[in-house]
Amino acid sequence: MKALIIGAGIGGLCLAQLLKKNGINVQIFERDSSPSERMQGYRLHLDADGISALQESLPNELFQLFEATSTNPLPYTTILDTGLKLNKRFPIDSYSKTEHHVESGVAKHLNVNRSTMREILLMDLDDVCNYGAKLESYKTDLNGVTAYFEDGRAIEGDLLIGADGTGSAVRKQRAPEANFMDSGARAIYGRIKTDQARKVLPDLCMADVFTAVSDVRKLILGVGPVIFPVRPEAAAQSLGINKSLSPQDDYLGCIVSGRKEFFGSTDQEIRKKTSDELQQLAVDLLSDWPSNAAAVPAAGEKDSFFYIEMTSSIPFTLQSHPNVTLLGDAIHTMTPSLGRGANVALRDAAILGKELIKVFRGEKKLAASLKEYEAEITAYGFDVVRKSAEKGTKLLGQDPLPC
Ligand SMILES: Cc1cc2nc3c(=O)[nH]c(=O)nc-3n(C[C@H](O)[C@H](O)[C@H](O)COP(=O)(O)OP(=O)(O)OC[C@H]3O[C@@H](n4cnc5c(N)ncnc54)[C@H](O)[C@@H]3O)c2cc1C
Repeated sequence: MKALIIGAGIGGLCLAQLLKKNGINVQIFERDSSPSERMQGYRLHLDADGISALQESLPNELFQLFEATSTNPLPYTTILDTGLKLNKRFPIDSYSKTEHHVESGVAKHLNVNRSTMREILLMDLDDVCNYGAKLESYKTDLNGVTAYFEDGRAIEGDLLIGADGTGSAVRKQRAPEANFMDSGARAIYGRIKTDQARKVLPDLCMADVFTAVSDVRKLILGVGPVIFPVRPEAAAQSLGINKSLSPQDDYLGCIVSGRKEFFGSTDQEIRKKTSDELQQLAVDLLSDWPSNAAAVPAAGEKDSFFYIEMTSSIPFTLQSHPNVTLLGDAIHTMTPSLGRGANVALRDAAILGKELIKVFRGEKKLAASLKEYEAEITAYGFDVVRKSAEKGTKLLGQDPLPC
């Protein structure tokens, strides 16, 4: 069995690791020219979905490296008032709607540095990953799939997995009936070194999973720490593993988020802004709060700021297909109000991987496996999309999902 994965994001890489570990022939195709071509974001909060999926998928030493480089935050989402004084502290599982993890006894929370996690996910996949490979379309029949790339290549496989994110080319062909919506919410995202953050934020912000401050307009300042127990550059050696990771400093991810109307210009105009200009816009947005909240983005690292336009999928019924499927944001993009998109993408990867192992061992037919996988991930994934939208509407002024 030969699996073709489109997209070397978090979900696609996790699936590739699980398939490779089980001896399944897999190739992954990514449109970026290299893993470092573009800024991918900073802190990610991982819950039991994501952590368990990584444990199942990664070879043992890579999972050890992942754990060693992950922050163990206090399991709270904390709300401050606009004077930056403590208002409420919610247990993260009730805030993020992961109470079922607590009930099943597997509640876990880590804050991870996205680029460090991706470096780990990419380890030992040199023979599997193809960069500079943008999928344009595919052709399928009962015998298999041919994927066509922008550079003219045509690659054949037994099945195709669209792990190609919100704008998924695979989904556009596989499920043209799927609808995605502009959520109306926007954000400026950057990072602050912890020594600078300590000067402008209460200590709690260095400890809890995420801390948010919101005003009456639902304009939000949010911060989340990444404080490495062992610096990535030293982690492998400390575990006796013969690998290396890029050096990283401790920091807080910093997000200023709200309705697009607050940002004062069109998306097209804001996309052209430099990091310095976006940082200044974030400072201006917070300038009339009673505290010195504007000092928070002002303390951010130069060149770290970028603009995010938040999208949500609209839940729909996915018709089954014998050899093409979807995974992660490609099928169920959600706004980051619960911090669960990457977790659900990783969960999808582990579920699909386990199904494909059964097919590889001759225990199940491919079409039956894909049907079962899709039933499970659309039920769970779209439930999280709905819950993320509800929270996003309440807190961020996100447009509600259509009924
Ligand atoms: C500000 C922000 C904060 C977030 N915080 C959290 C958090 O704390 N916790 C959490 O769980 N989630 C979080 N998320 C959500 C999370 O980032 C996504 O859900 C996750 O990255 C989805 O993974 P994926 O593998 O499905 O897609 P992606 O990571 O988007 O990967 C898709 C890949 O496919 C590639 N690709 C696209 N088109 C093609 C093509 N035609 N051919 C080849 N390759 C292609 C892309 O270049 C990309 O590398 C956050 C999101 C945002 C915006």
